[in-house]
Amino acid sequence: MDLFEYQGKQLFARYGIPVSAGDVASTVDEAVRAADAAGYPVVVKAQVQVGGRGKAGGIKLAVSADEVRTHAAAILGMDIKGHVVHRVWVEHASDISEEYYASFTLDRSAKKYLGMLSAQGGVEIETVAEENPDAIARITIDPVDGLREDACRAWVAQAKLSPAATDGAVDILLKLYHAYVDGDADLVEINPLILTPEGKVHALDAKVSLDENARFRHPEWDEFVGLEKTDARELEASEKGLQYVGLDGTVGVIANGAGLAMATCDIVHEVGGRPANFLDIGGGASAQVMANALEVINNDPAVRAIFINIFGGITKGEEVANGIVQALEQVSIASPIVIRLDGTNAEEGRAILSKYESDRLVSRPTMVEAARTAVEMAEARP
Ligand code: GDP
Ligand code: MN
Repeated sequence: MDLFEYQGKQLFARYGIPVSAGDVASTVDEAVRAADAAGYPVVVKAQVQVGGRGKAGGIKLAVSADEVRTHAAAILGMDIKGHVVHRVWVEHASDISEEYYASFTLDRSAKKYLGMLSAQGGVEIETVAEENPDAIARITIDPVDGLREDACRAWVAQAKLSPAATDGAVDILLKLYHAYVDGDADLVEINPLILTPEGKVHALDAKVSLDENARFRHPEWDEFVGLEKTDARELEASEKGLQYVGLDGTVGVIANGAGLAMATCDIVHEVGGRPANFLDIGGGASAQVMANALEVINNDPAVRAIFINIFGGITKGEEVANGIVQALEQVSIASPIVIRLDGTNAEEGRAILSKYESDRLVSRPTMVEAARTAVEMAEARP
C-alpha cells in the first residue's frame, strides 16, 4: 500500500525525522489556513502518487495568502500523469544548499535490507543509477543485527555528503531505518533529503510503501486505505480486501491467482472481448470471498457477463464449486455467468455445478471455450 507524501511525512514525524511544518488541504480555503499556520513562504504540493510533480506544475512556492489561493486553485483538480489531484500539502518553504537521496528497501535475493544513499538527490534515483552508478552508496543490513551507528556513519562517509550534513544524516538514517522496520514498510524513500544553509538536514519529500501482509498489527493503517482510489469499484473492492483493478470492458473477470487473472483478461481480449476488470481472489476461493467478488462485479453497471476462472490446487474442485454455489445463494447476479473449473478434482467440482446449470450459469471445460462463451453472452445482451 503506497502512501501519499503527506501521510509519509506524518509517519516520519512520529519517528522523529525532521519534516517541515505543514498540513494537508482539499480546498483553497483550507490551503490558506494551512499556509497561515505554517508561516510564509510556503510550498503548495500536489498529493498524487507519482514522481516529477514539480515539472508537471504540481509544486509551487507562495509568499502570500493570495499566491496560495492562486496556486491551490490551479493545482487542486489538476491531472498529473493520469492522477487527479484531490489534496495539496502546504508546508513552510525550505532553503536548500544540497539535495540528497536516501532509502531503505528489501533486497530479496540477499534476504537482507538494502539502504541507498546518494549525494545526487532531487532527481530520479533510476537516472542516477544509470548515468552515475558510483554516486549511490549501498549498505546491506542483516535484519537480525539491524543498522548500527558505526555502520551507518561509514555508509554516510562512503556517500560523500558534505561534512556539515554528516551528523544530521546519520541521525535521520537511523530513525528512517526504525520507521522502515517497526513501521512494516516495503520501502521508505526521502528524495530530496536536504542540507539547509543553516546546516540542518531535513526530509523534503516522503515516499512510503507499506507491507500489506503486516496490516493485522497496524489498525492505524485503516485511515490510509482506499484514499488513492477514485474508481468506486476499486474503492469497494479494497474495502472488501480484494485484489481488483477496474478496466473498461464488459466481461467481469474472477480468477484465483494473479497470473491466472491476467491470463484470463488476455484470453478475453484474444477472443474479441474486453475485460471489465482484473480480480484475483487468491488461493482459498471460499464462499465468502467468492460472494464478495461477485458483489463487486455485480455493482459494475458496464458488466454484461461474468467469467469465473478457477484452477483448483490445494483447494479441491468440489470445495470451489460449493463455494460458488453458496456465493450465488447470497448474491443475486444480474449477468450470466460462465465458469471454467480445472485442476485438482475438477470433475467432481463440475458435477456439482452441473446441477445448477441454466442458460444463465454455464460451465466450460477450457479457458478459451469459456472466454468465447462469456464474450458471446456479453454481446448478446441488450
Ligand atoms: P517530486 O518531484 O514529485 O518528487 O517532488 P519533491 O517533493 O521531491 O520536490 C521536487 C523539487 O522541488 C525538489 O527537489 C526541490 O528542488 C523543490 N522543492 C520542494 N520543496 C521545496 C522547498 O521547500 N524549497 C525549495 N527551495 N525547493 C523545494
Ligand atoms: Mn521527490
